[in-house]
Amino acid sequence: MPPPIGGHGARGFMSEEEKASLPKVTKALLLRVFSYLRPYWKQLLLALLCIILSSVFVLMPSILTGKIIDEGLIGRNLRALIFYLALSFAVTLGANLIQVAESYINTWIAQHITFDMRNAMFAHLQKMSQRFFTTNKQGDIITRMTGDIAGVERVITDTFSSILSNAITLVVALVAMYQKNWILATLGILIVPAFTLPTRKAGRTRWSITRDAQACNDEINGILNETMSVSGQLLVKLFGREQAEYDKYKDANGRLIRLNIKESMAGRWFRVVLSLFTNIGPMLLYLVGGILMMRYDSKITVGDISVLVALLGRTYGPVNNLLNIQVEWMRSMALFSRIFAYFDMPVEIENAPDAVTPAQAQGNIVFDHVDFAYDPDRPILRDVSFTLKSGNSVAIVGPSGSGKSTIINLIPRLYDVTGGAVTFDGVDVRQLDLAFLRRNVGVVTQDSYLFNGTIRENLLYAKPEATEEELLAACDKANILDFIQAQPQGLDAMVGNRGLKLSGGEKQRISIARVLLKDPALLIFDEATSALDSISESRIQQAIDPLIESRTSILIAHRLSTILAADEILVVKDGRIVERGVHRELVAAGGVYTELYETQFSRAFYEQTAPAEDADSLEIHYENKAYDL
Ligand code: ATP
Repeated sequence: MPPPIGGHGARGFMSEEEKASLPKVTKALLLRVFSYLRPYWKQLLLALLCIILSSVFVLMPSILTGKIIDEGLIGRNLRALIFYLALSFAVTLGANLIQVAESYINTWIAQHITFDMRNAMFAHLQKMSQRFFTTNKQGDIITRMTGDIAGVERVITDTFSSILSNAITLVVALVAMYQKNWILATLGILIVPAFTLPTRKAGRTRWSITRDAQACNDEINGILNETMSVSGQLLVKLFGREQAEYDKYKDANGRLIRLNIKESMAGRWFRVVLSLFTNIGPMLLYLVGGILMMRYDSKITVGDISVLVALLGRTYGPVNNLLNIQVEWMRSMALFSRIFAYFDMPVEIENAPDAVTPAQAQGNIVFDHVDFAYDPDRPILRDVSFTLKSGNSVAIVGPSGSGKSTIINLIPRLYDVTGGAVTFDGVDVRQLDLAFLRRNVGVVTQDSYLFNGTIRENLLYAKPEATEEELLAACDKANILDFIQAQPQGLDAMVGNRGLKLSGGEKQRISIARVLLKDPALLIFDEATSALDSISESRIQQAIDPLIESRTSILIAHRLSTILAADEILVVKDGRIVERGVHRELVAAGGVYTELYETQFSRAFYEQTAPAEDADSLEIHYENKAYDL
């Protein structure tokens, strides 16, 4: 059923800017909104039946007033009086019982629709690319998932059913009024348009205030998310920004309350005007009804006039509500369009329609003239080409910001190349089944993320069906078993929010154990740049060295020992591979690598191994290999 208002009315209330953001939205939007209701049409029909019945029942006592007055009181008939009173009571009770059923059905429908919507949104957001999560504020995403979708529930339980019940009540009341006396009925209706003007004015104001308040709310959520997170708070404390953050929060909070007060007052003034009209209406009916009775000898009775006054009183509520709902309706439409805008965001990285799923993964990687940019106007990688054969390993080295992490992001398709291609076992990664690709690429990031839970839960994330033995074996290989066994709860020790109860080294070794359980064909290890103490360093080193030996791996390396363990070294600068080869050749070339070696690697390495000899003649025995430096 088309809503009595909304549609063009809703567009009439939008600012120029809003009109631009919601072009020709109404019809398509309505159809889309109703498409969410469609699966529940049976329940909706039942709700509609309840609404119709309760609307009629609610008006019955007003209509019975005429009988009570004319037949009962004026006719001095006690039996009729009691009968009509009892009937009034019974229909009122009936109306209330039906309303209980109606609200149950409404809530049920609303809950089911929001359940569908939340799940669909969650699934959709999970498909969004890394770019989406790095560019959108977490606060906005959470508001969309929680606040906006909860708004939909309100729209269905309140706005939609209110529109229907008010419209039906209004129609039934008008029909009953005209049956009694057309002159008085018309008079009663004539007063109604007087509401429209103040309502529209208030509606427009509330509309724009609501949007400002929503933006302000998003801003507050953003501030809370940033400052109330563990790392955010750490930053605030260490930079002594408490006062500045407090001022920022207080300012946004202050703006929000001013907007909230403005919004509630915008509605208040026009309610004053409405209540004046509500009182003038009955007076006019009594006056004109009296004149008709006394001067024009009309057949109208005292009971009829009472019924008309009572019914008129019953129409003010629905008219008032329907006009108020105009604002609610527009608010709801904005809510839906915001949610739909999220649903409509294209999934950037998805499975190709003809994606291939090879039977087995080897882990051969080829970068073939790869270009990449996060933002179109700022190229990051340029003409990157290299080959990694299954069983081998490459180390990527380069100054900070040169594009090392970006290179590895392209392998599990966190981003897609803008030029050239990345192939996995000879197939362009964009043509590979995404689940297959990600199953076969394991990444240990610099800043390993652990969920707030136990060590076991974090490990099982990689392989839910892993046995206790497998877990312990992985921990042993990752060199973290001693630590776990030293914990009173062992594997069931809590890691804290984001794993912050653990040291950087422990966290990284747990994430190595996690990736070992995953057992990928290609292992990518983004070595932490942050300085760990030498014991932690060597523990991690002992964990990753055997892995590099036995697996196809790509290492973003900051330490000489890691670099030496690789079969080939790629030197990246400003998004290009500027040098490649083995350590000895690269040092001899006297280029970027030599510079890095002299400033970073060698120092870190000597600190770790504390050799006394001269670097040029140093021979290091590393994992049974002898490296002549
Ligand atoms: P580091 O050794 O410090 O980790 P890196 O060599 O791994 O640095 P990248 O993280 O690949 O460098 O970054 C390369 C460039 O891309 C940097 O200039 C960085 O500012 C930019 N960059 C990284 N991530 C994004 C992103 N999500 N959006 C836009 N630009 C980005």
